[in-house]
Amino acid sequence: MNLKPDIVDQHEIHAEWRREIHAYPELAYEEHRTAKFVAEKLGQFGIAIETGIGRTGIVATIRNGSSDRSIGLRADMDALPLQELNEFDHRSTNDGVMHACGHDGHTTMLLAAAEYLAKNRNFDGTVHLIFQPAEEGEAGAKAMMDDGLFERFPMDAVYGMHNWPGQAVGKMATRIGPIMAAMDIFEIKIIGRGGHAALPHLAIDPILIGAQLVQQWQGIVSRNVNPIEAGVISVTQFHAGDAWAVIPNEIVLRGTVRSFKPATRKMIAERMQQLTAGICSGNKCEYLWWYDQRFPPTVNAATEMKAAATASTALIGAANFNSDVEPSTGSEDFGYMLEEKPGCYMLIGNGSSDGDCLLHNPHYDFNDEIIPLGASYWVGLVEQELPARD
Ligand SMILES: [Zn+2]
Ligand SMILES: [Zn+2]
Repeated sequence: MNLKPDIVDQHEIHAEWRREIHAYPELAYEEHRTAKFVAEKLGQFGIAIETGIGRTGIVATIRNGSSDRSIGLRADMDALPLQELNEFDHRSTNDGVMHACGHDGHTTMLLAAAEYLAKNRNFDGTVHLIFQPAEEGEAGAKAMMDDGLFERFPMDAVYGMHNWPGQAVGKMATRIGPIMAAMDIFEIKIIGRGGHAALPHLAIDPILIGAQLVQQWQGIVSRNVNPIEAGVISVTQFHAGDAWAVIPNEIVLRGTVRSFKPATRKMIAERMQQLTAGICSGNKCEYLWWYDQRFPPTVNAATEMKAAATASTALIGAANFNSDVEPSTGSEDFGYMLEEKPGCYMLIGNGSSDGDCLLHNPHYDFNDEIIPLGASYWVGLVEQELPARD
């Protein structure tokens, strides 16, 4: 393994940073303490920063030499609304908030890389280190872009990384093309006519209509999505009624849709609404339709994926790098950045899991063992993409 010795030497200190961030998790756009921690560290390394981009986001810039080439490296800083069930010393001190996705580790790995790059400067060009807020469902990446991320800090390419429980330490994986899915959410209200449960013929039962919709929507995935494409419709909430003998007046269905291709994404939303309209009109009831396209798919560009593959292979060896990982139907707001800039999203093994500590689990913890790996990958990528002149 080609770890950077300077980074390995600092491992215990970096692990302390990570556990400090873990102990004080903050929700989307509330990452004030975390951003302050990041800003202080970057200041100690002598790196120029700009704060308040996308509310709590930070961009740190390190320039060296004369090349006008530039790349961006991105980490996320936010935690989840989840009660931590771990008992270790660095467990969350903030009730109901937890770093259950490892963004504490992502922030630390990028800080460790920043420290190395500022000190060694073995590259020619500009590196923008992006510490973004609000990845978990709140589109902090887009908030930073709306605040002029790519105009104020021009970059040729942007790279992201996520830890991956279940993948062994020392392994990395990515692919060309879509690696994470688009994420949409919906809320459909079905308005029937409430009445006595013993006299259903005098009511319009929205529960029966909702049940039909849940089933009919699954037919979109099985009958309308190309079998070699992917699509997911998950109804996750079905709210109806309060009494034994009352047919409720209305029900609410909520859930999420995942897809990889724009055409599939559009088709699923259209077919869902057509079926809703048809079933509701056939049953003489009304509906209210709310459907929101959230994150786009995360799509890796071929050239930047190959650059990331070269840097990973140099670090961990070809046998430990998977260049064609199966895409995940999870989603990532890094997809917004990759819509505007070519780049690559890398998965880094967080170690085997017993099935009870995957991402977003109350027992999850980022594996400090991989900090030198992730940080060395960032440094290697910079030195490779912005090669120093002799
Ligand atoms: Zn997450
Ligand atoms: Zn995450």
